[in-house]
Amino acid sequence: MDHRVAIGIDVGGTKIAGALVDRNGNILRQETQPTLANESPESIHQRIADVINTLNEPTQPVSGIGISCPGPVNPFTGVALNAVNLGWKNYPLSAQLRPLLHNPSLPIVLQNDVNALALGEMIYGAAKGVSDFVYIAPGTGLGGGAVSSGRIITGAGGSAMEIGHIAVHRNGRPCRCGVNGCAEQYLSGNGLLAGAAEYGLFVDNQPPTTQDIIQLARNHHEIALRIMSDAAQALGEVMAMCAALLNPALFVIGGGIGLACFDLIVPEATRRLHQSVFPNLYSALTIVPAIASSSALGSAALVWHELDAQL
Ligand SMILES: [Zn+2]
Repeated sequence: MDHRVAIGIDVGGTKIAGALVDRNGNILRQETQPTLANESPESIHQRIADVINTLNEPTQPVSGIGISCPGPVNPFTGVALNAVNLGWKNYPLSAQLRPLLHNPSLPIVLQNDVNALALGEMIYGAAKGVSDFVYIAPGTGLGGGAVSSGRIITGAGGSAMEIGHIAVHRNGRPCRCGVNGCAEQYLSGNGLLAGAAEYGLFVDNQPPTTQDIIQLARNHHEIALRIMSDAAQALGEVMAMCAALLNPALFVIGGGIGLACFDLIVPEATRRLHQSVFPNLYSALTIVPAIASSSALGSAALVWHELDAQL
Protein backbone atom coordinates (compact mmCIF):
# COMPACT_ATOMS: atom_id res chain seq x y z
CA MET A 1 0.00 0.00 0.00
CA ASP A 2 1.42 3.35 -1.09
CA HIS A 3 0.56 5.97 1.54
CA ARG A 4 2.29 8.89 -0.13
CA VAL A 5 0.27 11.98 -1.05
CA ALA A 6 0.88 14.98 -3.29
CA ILE A 7 -0.38 18.54 -3.23
CA GLY A 8 -1.86 19.73 -6.52
CA ILE A 9 -2.44 23.43 -7.20
CA ASP A 10 -4.11 24.85 -10.30
CA VAL A 11 -3.67 28.61 -10.61
CA GLY A 12 -6.39 29.91 -12.91
CA GLY A 13 -7.53 33.38 -13.84
CA THR A 14 -10.28 33.36 -11.20
CA LYS A 15 -9.32 30.80 -8.55
CA ILE A 16 -6.44 28.94 -6.97
CA ALA A 17 -7.70 25.36 -6.62
CA GLY A 18 -5.71 23.05 -4.38
CA ALA A 19 -6.09 19.41 -3.38
CA LEU A 20 -4.28 16.83 -1.30
CA VAL A 21 -4.33 13.69 -3.44
CA ASP A 22 -3.19 10.13 -2.85
CA ARG A 23 -1.44 7.88 -5.38
CA ASN A 24 -4.77 6.48 -6.58
CA GLY A 25 -6.32 9.86 -7.32
CA ASN A 26 -8.47 10.09 -4.21
CA ILE A 27 -8.89 13.70 -3.13
CA LEU A 28 -8.32 13.76 0.63
CA ARG A 29 -8.75 17.47 1.15
CA GLN A 30 -9.46 20.56 -0.97
CA GLU A 31 -8.73 24.23 -0.49
CA THR A 32 -9.61 27.12 -2.81
CA GLN A 33 -8.87 30.82 -2.77
CA PRO A 34 -9.70 33.55 -5.27
CA THR A 35 -6.79 34.44 -7.55
CA LEU A 36 -7.59 38.19 -7.61
CA ALA A 37 -5.40 38.40 -10.69
CA ASN A 38 -5.45 42.20 -10.75
CA GLU A 39 -3.48 42.31 -7.49
CA SER A 40 0.32 42.23 -7.30
CA PRO A 41 2.26 39.01 -8.08
CA GLU A 42 3.40 39.02 -4.43
CA SER A 43 -0.15 38.86 -3.10
CA ILE A 44 -1.06 36.11 -5.59
CA HIS A 45 1.87 33.91 -4.64
CA GLN A 46 1.15 34.52 -0.95
CA ARG A 47 -2.36 33.10 -1.52
CA ILE A 48 -0.88 30.13 -3.40
CA ALA A 49 1.46 29.54 -0.45
CA ASP A 50 -1.48 29.80 1.97
CA VAL A 51 -3.35 27.08 0.05
CA ILE A 52 -0.25 24.84 0.04
CA ASN A 53 0.41 25.37 3.75
CA THR A 54 -3.21 24.59 4.61
CA LEU A 55 -3.04 21.32 2.68
CA ASN A 56 0.40 20.31 3.96
CA GLU A 57 -0.62 18.42 7.08
CA PRO A 58 2.37 17.24 9.11
CA THR A 59 0.73 13.83 9.60
CA GLN A 60 0.69 13.09 5.86
CA PRO A 61 3.79 11.90 3.93
CA VAL A 62 3.69 14.62 1.23
CA SER A 63 5.97 13.74 -1.71
CA GLY A 64 5.85 17.07 -3.50
CA ILE A 65 3.84 19.96 -4.86
CA GLY A 66 2.58 20.12 -8.44
CA ILE A 67 1.52 23.54 -9.71
CA SER A 68 -0.13 24.31 -13.04
CA CYS A 69 -0.81 27.68 -14.61
CA PRO A 70 -1.86 28.97 -18.03
CA GLY A 71 0.60 29.59 -20.85
CA PRO A 72 4.06 28.17 -21.50
CA VAL A 73 6.29 27.34 -18.54
CA ASN A 74 9.86 26.20 -18.08
CA PRO A 75 9.39 23.10 -15.91
CA PHE A 76 13.13 22.85 -15.22
CA THR A 77 13.50 26.33 -13.73
CA GLY A 78 9.96 26.72 -12.36
CA VAL A 79 9.40 29.88 -14.38
CA ALA A 80 5.98 30.85 -15.77
CA LEU A 81 6.92 32.30 -19.14
CA ASN A 82 3.74 34.08 -20.17
CA ALA A 83 0.54 33.63 -18.13
CA VAL A 84 -1.37 36.52 -19.68
CA ASN A 85 -4.44 36.32 -17.39
CA LEU A 86 -2.22 36.44 -14.30
CA GLY A 87 0.08 39.20 -15.54
CA TRP A 88 3.11 36.89 -15.25
CA LYS A 89 5.90 37.15 -17.79
CA ASN A 90 9.12 35.21 -17.09
CA TYR A 91 7.93 34.94 -13.51
CA PRO A 92 10.03 32.68 -11.20
CA LEU A 93 7.04 31.22 -9.37
CA SER A 94 8.73 28.24 -7.70
CA ALA A 95 11.59 30.36 -6.33
CA GLN A 96 9.17 33.01 -5.06
CA LEU A 97 6.99 30.46 -3.31
CA ARG A 98 9.62 28.39 -1.54
CA PRO A 99 10.47 30.85 1.30
CA LEU A 100 6.75 31.15 2.12
CA LEU A 101 6.16 27.43 2.63
CA HIS A 102 6.04 25.68 5.99
CA ASN A 103 8.11 22.91 4.41
CA PRO A 104 10.41 24.68 1.91
CA SER A 105 12.34 21.48 1.12
CA LEU A 106 9.45 19.82 -0.74
CA PRO A 107 10.00 19.42 -4.50
CA ILE A 108 7.91 21.85 -6.59
CA VAL A 109 6.97 20.84 -10.14
CA LEU A 110 5.56 23.57 -12.39
CA GLN A 111 3.76 22.79 -15.64
CA ASN A 112 1.33 24.29 -18.13
CA ASP A 113 -2.30 23.66 -17.07
CA VAL A 114 -3.33 21.62 -20.11
CA ASN A 115 -0.21 19.44 -19.86
CA ALA A 116 -1.09 18.85 -16.20
CA LEU A 117 -4.61 17.78 -17.19
CA ALA A 118 -3.12 15.39 -19.77
CA LEU A 119 -0.93 13.83 -17.08
CA GLY A 120 -3.95 13.63 -14.78
CA GLU A 121 -5.67 11.54 -17.46
CA MET A 122 -2.57 9.33 -17.79
CA ILE A 123 -2.15 8.69 -14.08
CA TYR A 124 -5.77 8.71 -12.88
CA GLY A 125 -8.12 8.92 -15.86
CA ALA A 126 -9.04 7.89 -19.40
CA ALA A 127 -5.43 7.32 -20.52
CA LYS A 128 -4.40 5.21 -17.53
CA GLY A 129 -1.62 2.87 -18.62
CA VAL A 130 -1.35 4.42 -22.11
CA SER A 131 2.14 5.69 -22.95
CA ASP A 132 1.31 7.50 -26.23
CA PHE A 133 -1.75 9.71 -26.36
CA VAL A 134 -2.92 13.21 -27.16
CA TYR A 135 -5.20 15.29 -24.93
CA ILE A 136 -7.32 17.89 -26.72
CA ALA A 137 -9.20 20.39 -24.57
CA PRO A 138 -11.71 22.72 -26.24
CA GLY A 139 -12.78 25.07 -23.44
CA THR A 140 -13.04 28.85 -23.69
CA GLY A 141 -10.00 28.49 -25.97
CA LEU A 142 -8.33 25.37 -27.34
CA GLY A 143 -5.34 23.69 -25.74
CA GLY A 144 -3.64 20.35 -26.01
CA GLY A 145 -1.03 18.13 -24.44
CA ALA A 146 0.86 15.15 -25.82
CA VAL A 147 2.42 12.22 -24.01
CA SER A 148 4.98 10.23 -25.98
CA SER A 149 6.67 7.13 -24.53
CA GLY A 150 5.17 8.06 -21.16
CA ARG A 151 6.62 11.58 -21.05
CA ILE A 152 4.84 14.88 -21.58
CA ILE A 153 6.21 16.77 -24.58
CA THR A 154 7.05 20.36 -23.64
CA GLY A 155 9.19 21.49 -26.56
CA ALA A 156 12.25 23.73 -26.55
CA GLY A 157 10.35 26.79 -25.30
CA GLY A 158 7.52 25.18 -23.33
CA SER A 159 5.03 25.79 -26.15
CA ALA A 160 4.66 22.32 -27.68
CA MET A 161 1.09 21.34 -28.62
CA GLU A 162 -0.25 24.87 -29.09
CA ILE A 163 -2.88 23.21 -31.24
CA GLY A 164 -5.37 26.05 -30.85
CA HIS A 165 -3.30 28.12 -33.22
CA ILE A 166 -2.85 25.68 -36.07
CA ALA A 167 -4.45 27.35 -39.11
CA VAL A 168 -7.18 25.05 -40.41
CA HIS A 169 -8.68 27.63 -42.81
CA ARG A 170 -6.08 29.68 -44.63
CA ASN A 171 -8.50 32.59 -45.16
CA GLY A 172 -10.62 31.93 -42.09
CA ARG A 173 -11.61 33.99 -39.08
CA PRO A 174 -8.92 36.31 -37.72
CA CYS A 175 -7.46 35.08 -34.43
CA ARG A 176 -6.12 37.02 -31.43
CA CYS A 177 -2.69 35.49 -32.16
CA GLY A 178 -2.45 37.31 -35.49
CA VAL A 179 -3.03 34.26 -37.71
CA ASN A 180 -6.22 33.68 -39.73
CA GLY A 181 -8.31 30.52 -39.47
CA CYS A 182 -6.84 29.06 -36.27
CA ALA A 183 -8.50 25.86 -34.99
CA GLU A 184 -9.49 27.75 -31.82
CA GLN A 185 -11.69 30.03 -33.94
CA TYR A 186 -13.95 27.01 -34.63
CA LEU A 187 -13.29 24.45 -31.89
CA SER A 188 -13.78 26.29 -28.58
CA GLY A 189 -16.41 28.27 -26.71
CA ASN A 190 -15.17 31.43 -28.40
CA GLY A 191 -15.20 29.58 -31.72
CA LEU A 192 -18.85 28.53 -31.33
CA LEU A 193 -19.79 32.13 -30.50
CA ALA A 194 -17.80 33.40 -33.50
CA GLY A 195 -19.71 30.94 -35.69
CA ALA A 196 -23.02 32.21 -34.36
CA ALA A 197 -21.97 35.79 -35.10
CA GLU A 198 -20.73 34.93 -38.60
CA TYR A 199 -23.82 32.93 -39.59
CA GLY A 200 -26.34 35.25 -37.90
CA LEU A 201 -27.66 32.91 -35.19
CA PHE A 202 -29.75 34.65 -32.53
CA VAL A 203 -31.86 33.48 -29.61
CA ASP A 204 -34.66 35.90 -28.65
CA ASN A 205 -32.89 38.52 -30.80
CA GLN A 206 -29.76 38.17 -28.67
CA PRO A 207 -26.42 36.50 -29.43
CA PRO A 208 -26.67 32.92 -28.10
CA THR A 209 -24.57 31.40 -25.34
CA THR A 210 -22.47 28.33 -26.06
CA GLN A 211 -25.07 26.27 -24.18
CA ASP A 212 -27.79 27.70 -26.46
CA ILE A 213 -25.80 26.67 -29.54
CA ILE A 214 -25.21 23.14 -28.24
CA GLN A 215 -28.89 22.74 -27.33
CA LEU A 216 -30.02 24.04 -30.73
CA ALA A 217 -27.67 21.57 -32.43
CA ARG A 218 -29.24 18.76 -30.42
CA ASN A 219 -32.60 19.99 -31.73
CA HIS A 220 -31.22 19.79 -35.31
CA HIS A 221 -31.18 23.56 -35.85
CA GLU A 222 -29.53 24.09 -39.23
CA ILE A 223 -27.15 26.93 -38.31
CA ALA A 224 -26.18 25.35 -34.98
CA LEU A 225 -25.38 22.11 -36.82
CA ARG A 226 -23.20 24.09 -39.25
CA ILE A 227 -21.29 25.57 -36.29
CA MET A 228 -20.82 22.04 -34.89
CA SER A 229 -19.67 20.82 -38.28
CA ASP A 230 -17.02 23.57 -38.36
CA ALA A 231 -15.87 22.47 -34.89
CA ALA A 232 -15.80 18.82 -35.99
CA GLN A 233 -13.77 19.61 -39.11
CA ALA A 234 -11.26 21.59 -37.03
CA LEU A 235 -11.01 18.70 -34.56
CA GLY A 236 -10.47 16.22 -37.41
CA GLU A 237 -7.75 18.40 -38.89
CA VAL A 238 -5.97 18.80 -35.55
CA MET A 239 -6.22 15.07 -34.83
CA ALA A 240 -4.81 14.26 -38.28
CA MET A 241 -1.77 16.46 -37.67
CA CYS A 242 -1.22 14.96 -34.22
CA ALA A 243 -1.67 11.42 -35.58
CA ALA A 244 0.86 11.98 -38.36
CA LEU A 245 3.40 13.54 -35.99
CA LEU A 246 3.00 11.39 -32.89
CA ASN A 247 1.16 8.17 -33.84
CA PRO A 248 -0.87 8.15 -30.59
CA ALA A 249 -2.90 5.12 -29.45
CA LEU A 250 -5.58 7.36 -27.98
CA PHE A 251 -7.11 10.82 -28.21
CA VAL A 252 -8.67 12.07 -24.97
CA ILE A 253 -11.14 14.90 -25.48
CA GLY A 254 -11.52 17.16 -22.44
CA GLY A 255 -12.46 20.79 -21.82
CA GLY A 256 -15.97 22.03 -21.04
CA ILE A 257 -16.91 22.42 -24.70
CA GLY A 258 -15.17 19.21 -25.78
CA LEU A 259 -17.08 17.16 -23.22
CA ALA A 260 -20.42 18.90 -23.85
CA CYS A 261 -20.12 18.44 -27.64
CA PHE A 262 -18.34 15.06 -27.70
CA ASP A 263 -21.14 13.09 -29.40
CA LEU A 264 -22.00 16.02 -31.69
CA ILE A 265 -18.53 16.45 -33.19
CA VAL A 266 -16.44 13.29 -32.77
CA PRO A 267 -18.14 11.17 -35.51
CA GLU A 268 -17.58 13.83 -38.22
CA ALA A 269 -14.10 14.62 -36.85
CA THR A 270 -13.24 10.92 -37.08
CA ARG A 271 -14.32 10.82 -40.74
CA ARG A 272 -12.14 13.85 -41.44
CA LEU A 273 -9.21 12.17 -39.67
CA HIS A 274 -9.64 9.04 -41.79
CA GLN A 275 -9.65 11.13 -44.98
CA SER A 276 -6.44 12.91 -43.96
CA VAL A 277 -3.95 10.24 -42.86
CA PHE A 278 -3.19 6.68 -43.94
CA PRO A 279 -4.90 3.76 -42.18
CA ASN A 280 -1.92 2.60 -40.12
CA LEU A 281 -2.23 5.83 -38.14
CA TYR A 282 -5.87 5.33 -37.13
CA SER A 283 -6.67 1.62 -37.38
CA ALA A 284 -5.84 1.00 -33.70
CA LEU A 285 -6.73 4.50 -32.50
CA THR A 286 -9.55 5.28 -30.07
CA ILE A 287 -11.13 8.61 -29.14
CA VAL A 288 -12.62 8.92 -25.66
CA PRO A 289 -13.88 11.67 -23.33
CA ALA A 290 -11.72 12.78 -20.40
CA ILE A 291 -12.71 11.51 -16.95
CA ALA A 292 -10.28 13.02 -14.40
CA SER A 293 -12.49 15.25 -12.30
CA SER A 294 -10.44 18.25 -11.21
CA SER A 295 -7.65 20.50 -12.41
CA ALA A 296 -5.89 20.19 -9.04
CA LEU A 297 -5.85 16.41 -9.58
CA GLY A 298 -3.87 16.96 -12.79
CA SER A 299 -1.46 19.19 -10.91
CA ALA A 300 -0.93 16.49 -8.28
CA ALA A 301 -0.19 14.05 -11.12
CA LEU A 302 2.82 16.23 -11.99
CA VAL A 303 4.49 15.05 -8.80
CA TRP A 304 4.05 11.34 -9.59
CA HIS A 305 5.13 11.91 -13.20
CA GLU A 306 8.32 13.55 -11.96
CA LEU A 307 9.05 10.96 -9.28
CA ASP A 308 8.41 8.07 -11.69
CA ALA A 309 10.87 9.63 -14.15
CA GLN A 310 13.58 9.59 -11.47
CA LEU A 311 13.24 5.84 -10.82
ZN1 LIG B 1 -4.54 31.82 -33.35
